[in-house]
Amino acid sequence: TSVAQYRREKKKEEVNDKFEPRPIELRSDEVVDGVVGLIAGNTPLVRIPSLSRALGVEILGKAEFLNPGGSVKDRVALRMIEDAEQAGYLHPYTGSRIFEGTVGSTGISIATIAKAKGYDATIIMPDDVAKEKVQALKCLGADVEQVRPASIVDKKQYVNLARQRALHFGEPPSSPSSHRPHIQTATSSVVVTTTASEDLRLKPRGFFADQFENMSNYYAHLEGTGPEIWRQTNGRVDAFVSGAGTGGTIAGTGQFLKSMDENILVVLADPEGSGLYNKIKHGVMYDRKEREGSKRRHQVDTVVEGIGNNRMTNNIELAVSNIDDAYRITDEEAVAMSRYLVQHDGLFLGSSSACNLVACVKLVKRMGWREGQRLVTILCDSGSRHYSKFWNDDYLRAADIPINPSLIDDLLSSS
Ligand code: PMP
Repeated sequence: TSVAQYRREKKKEEVNDKFEPRPIELRSDEVVDGVVGLIAGNTPLVRIPSLSRALGVEILGKAEFLNPGGSVKDRVALRMIEDAEQAGYLHPYTGSRIFEGTVGSTGISIATIAKAKGYDATIIMPDDVAKEKVQALKCLGADVEQVRPASIVDKKQYVNLARQRALHFGEPPSSPSSHRPHIQTATSSVVVTTTASEDLRLKPRGFFADQFENMSNYYAHLEGTGPEIWRQTNGRVDAFVSGAGTGGTIAGTGQFLKSMDENILVVLADPEGSGLYNKIKHGVMYDRKEREGSKRRHQVDTVVEGIGNNRMTNNIELAVSNIDDAYRITDEEAVAMSRYLVQHDGLFLGSSSACNLVACVKLVKRMGWREGQRLVTILCDSGSRHYSKFWNDDYLRAADIPINPSLIDDLLSSS
């Protein structure tokens, strides 16, 4: 043996002499099956150190960014797909294709689960969302179609287009649809198409996931997120704070928590340009002045992605009756919070998480809480889904959105 070899052996002996293995409890149930097995809920509840310390209360965030698809939408996509499978709307062996209109997160979750289960996915989204979401969808093998942002009454709006594509899936492009009689099986949300003459079981089908109207979205939170929060907090929660895009999170989680303890406050964090704040505060989406002043009243004009809405959907309908209070959060506040959390806690979060946390601080201030009350919110996705817009300082400067983390210091020290 060479001197070098001898030294290496000696070193290894030294290291191993110091290592004493601890007894390991053997568990046979820790292996999960594929990516779907990774979407098992039970995301950790993380205390936000800086905000909790500054306020004297506990601010807890459900770390949904740890899901394999990177967001809270994994739960919802899985539930929508599995409910559709159970109802017989989706079959891998017939080459089913899932269609969805989404600003990105739901599409990424659907594309992921589709691949794992043997489906195809077509995702239709507005063309102004952060481009890393489009890249992720393409990497996941989804067909992506981007369209100009449009009002919900416009046929080319992304949700309407997804519905249409699902309805006409499987038709040869040349044949006018009027010549091909459709059986349309539709519950309140599910659209499955096939032609009358063809065997229902063998025909490839289009399935419109329809997160805005699909109640599987609500149930994912009613039976998942809500009970998890209850268990993780030992049933001690003073407030649940969340934004609403489809409304599924705040509707389902809010309903579950209120059913356990009706004193838990359910509070909406609403970004600029969304009509939900007015709906909660004044019973209407828009007051007349805003309606007249807004050119694009069907769109939510904000750098925050994934929350805010200007129309009532099944899921928002369910949420509204449970929401006690609402806060309107500016882009500047959301941006400030995201930078503040990195500086103080090393937490790199997406725009809707930042909005939620600003609303938590505002709620604590308004309630005058300072002695250990406990707020729970959702950390929907991580900053890495937002490099090109919300986390891009040049983009923000060009959009005239200030980057000013000291805004949060001011908010925390205000009375
Ligand atoms: N945050 C992000 C990043 C999202 O994509 C969404 C869903 N659009 C939400 C929050 C809002 O969740 P929900 O649709 O359940 O209201």
